[in-house]
This record gives sequence, C-alpha cells and structure tokens, in this order.
Amino acid sequence: MRIALFGAPGVGKGSQAALLNKNQGLAHISTGVMLRTAIRKGTPVGLEARQYMEASQLVPGVIVRVLAEKAITDQNFDQFVLDGYPRTIEQALWLTEFLTEKHARLHCVVNLIVSDELIVRRLSQRRVNIDTGENYHLKFKPPPENVDPKLIIQRDDDKPEAIQKRLDVYREETHPLVDFYQKRNLMIEVDGQGSFEDIHARIIEAVYSFAPSQ
Ligand code: AMP
Repeated sequence: MRIALFGAPGVGKGSQAALLNKNQGLAHISTGVMLRTAIRKGTPVGLEARQYMEASQLVPGVIVRVLAEKAITDQNFDQFVLDGYPRTIEQALWLTEFLTEKHARLHCVVNLIVSDELIVRRLSQRRVNIDTGENYHLKFKPPPENVDPKLIIQRDDDKPEAIQKRLDVYREETHPLVDFYQKRNLMIEVDGQGSFEDIHARIIEAVYSFAPSQ
C-alpha cells in the first residue's frame, strides 16, 4: 500500500500516519519531521531549511525532494504513508514520475477534512517531542509523565501568529493538489473530526474500499 495523507496543517496527518504505522505497518514518511531533525542536528539541509520554516513558508522543492526520495527508496518503494508530501503541484508531478520509473504508483491520497476553527484550536494545543517527533495534544493526548518535560516543546510554527500564515500558504500552494488528484481519480475525502481512533477507522475503511486488492 502506498498512500499520502493530505490536508491543511493541523488536520491530523501526523497522528493518523503514526496510527497507520502502528496498526498497518506502513512506514511513516514525514518531510516535516525529517526537516526538524535536520535543523536540530545542524546539517546543511537543516541550515538551509530553517529560514523558510521560521517564516512559515514551504522549504524549496529540491531540498524536500532529496529527503522524500531517500525515504521512499529506503522503503523499497512500497508500504508507506506520506505525511506532508507532496505539498505543491511540482512535488506531485515529480512524485508521479519517480514512482512510475519504479513501476509503482500511489494507491490513493486521503484528504482529511477539518473545519478551520478546529484546526486553529488543535494547533495551539499541540506539543511535540523533539527527540522522537511524536505529537501530543494538551487535552486529548497529553505527553506521558515519564518523558523529560524539556523534550516536549511547542513548535514555533504552531504559535498563533504563525498558524494563520501556514493556512494561507496551504490555500495558495497546496490546495490546488485537490483538483490535481481528483482529476486523476486518486483523491478520497475522509472526515478528520472526532477521536483519533474513529478517524483512523474511517481512513482504513475508505482506503481499503478504494483500493481493495492492496
Ligand atoms: P509539517 O511537520 O508537515 O507541518 O511541516 C512543517 C514545515 O516543514 C512546513 O510548514 C514547511 O515549512 C516544511 N515542509 C514540510 N514538508 C514540506 C514539503 N513537502 N514541501 C515544502 N516544505 C515542507
């Protein structure tokens, strides 16, 4: 199974990709997590990406492409869920070409539908473990007590002033992919509101009825 989770920041792509990893064994490929790790380690990719992420902009396509290419190749081109990739038409075109060369293709793209109001509420309550990349929600999934509180941070881009900017970037640069994948009959919509488990069950149901043989 090769799927991509799609939607605005805060729709729950990361949490749902983690559940697909746990329950379906799909490799969780998150360009956001890879970029934050690169920044923390101070690698050349991290140094380059940092300025864009601090400004709540998309990181240039060529940088993220290298990360996506390596992660998908390491996974032998199968059994993965993409979280936050592709985010532009250019990235989607590259991904199609890259997978086609390997005689592979995405089985579907899951568009998680969440109201703007809930997105803002979720992002402002989100915290992340800087070591593992695991996401928490202060109310619904608080960080465990045995984890060092110093490792649990609020992402700078989850602070109120950055959230609006990221939603604007999503509408302008990423939302056009809805049309792109609808035209290719790959886009399925799933209600992204409710409990983690309910949303997960809806995703499984939608994906397997869309691509039953995978
Ligand atoms: P995420 O963790 O998916 O919310 O991504 C956090 C930030 O990383 C985004 O706001 C972008 O700055 C950058 N980023 C992640 N994935 C991509 C991508 N596919 N293309 C460009 N920038 C990305």
